[in-house]
Amino acid sequence: MNPLIIAHRGASGYLPEHTLPAKAMAYAMGADYLEQDVVASRDDQLVVLHDVYLDRVTDVARQYPERCRDDGRYYVRDFDLGEIRRLSVTERLDEHGRAVFPKRFPPHTGRFRIHTLVEELELVRGLNAATGRVAGVYPELKRPAWHRNQGVDMAPLLLETLSAHGYESAEDPVFVQCFDRAEIERLRETLGTPLKLVQLIGENDWNESDTDFDVLKTVRGLRDLAGVADGIGPWINQLYTLETIDGQPASTGLASAARDAGLLVHPYTLRADALPAGFKVHDELAGFLIESLGVDGVFTDFPDRLRRFIDTGTAGHG
Ligand code: CA
Repeated sequence: MNPLIIAHRGASGYLPEHTLPAKAMAYAMGADYLEQDVVASRDDQLVVLHDVYLDRVTDVARQYPERCRDDGRYYVRDFDLGEIRRLSVTERLDEHGRAVFPKRFPPHTGRFRIHTLVEELELVRGLNAATGRVAGVYPELKRPAWHRNQGVDMAPLLLETLSAHGYESAEDPVFVQCFDRAEIERLRETLGTPLKLVQLIGENDWNESDTDFDVLKTVRGLRDLAGVADGIGPWINQLYTLETIDGQPASTGLASAARDAGLLVHPYTLRADALPAGFKVHDELAGFLIESLGVDGVFTDFPDRLRRFIDTGTAGHG
C-alpha cells in the first residue's frame, strides 16, 4: 500500500496556502487527500485558514486597521464572513512582514481570497466528478477549546457540514484531525462520529492545547489513544534523532510504537525548501519516512515531489 500524499494546506509550496488555486493544483498533482484547517468566523461560518488570526496571510490590517485586539492580532472570530471575503490573501508573512518561505509565490501579488469549508468540499466533489478519481479531504479542527471560549462549538458544525457532503462513515475518504486529545475523544464518544480520526502530536511548549504530548507519546498513551483514534499525525522531528546508524538518522521508535498500538502514522510536514536537520534533499527525507519508517501517509507542501518519489521509487514494500 503506497503512503497517502496529503496536500498540506494545498500545493502550498507553489501557491498561497489554503487558497482554492493551491487546492486545485494539489489535486492536479495527484494528491490523495487535501487538507483543510478550519476556523470559525463571527457569524459561525467555517472558513479554511491555518491560524485563528488573519494578519499573517491577508491585508486585514490595511482594510480594518482598528479591528485588532489588545494583543495587536486580528482574529477570524471578530469578522463576519462577508468581511473576510473582502480580504486579499498573500503568501505567508512573518511578524516582520517578510515571506516565511522566500522562494515561494511572491507576497502581495495575485488575487486570492479566503473561502469556506463548504466551497472547498464543493471543489473536491466537482474535481472528483470531472476526473473520475477520488481525492479525500482532511479537515483539522483548529483550537476547539479556544473557539468554545469564544462562543462557538466547531466540532458539531464540522460533522454536519461533512455529512451534508457525503462524508458519513469510516469508509468515506475523510480524516478529521486535531491536536486536542480531549476533542478527539469527544468526537468519537460524545458526538459519536464514525469518521477516521487522527490525533496530531505537537510539543508541550507550543501551547497548542491542554494535551500532554509527552504522555500521549508513551506506549500507554498510544494504546489508550487507539481506543478513540485511527492514527497519529506526529511532527517529523519527533520521529528521528540526529544520531546516525549506517549513515541514516535513527528512529525514535515513535512510529513503530504507534503502529504496534494499531495506529496509522501520518507525519507533518515535508517541505522541499525547509528540510529538518539531518536531511539534505527532499527524496532523502521522503525515503526515510516511507522506506525506513513505513509511514502510512505524509503531509507535504510539495505533492508533485512526493508523487514522483512514490511513483518512481521503491516505496510500497514493507
Ligand atoms: Ca493543519
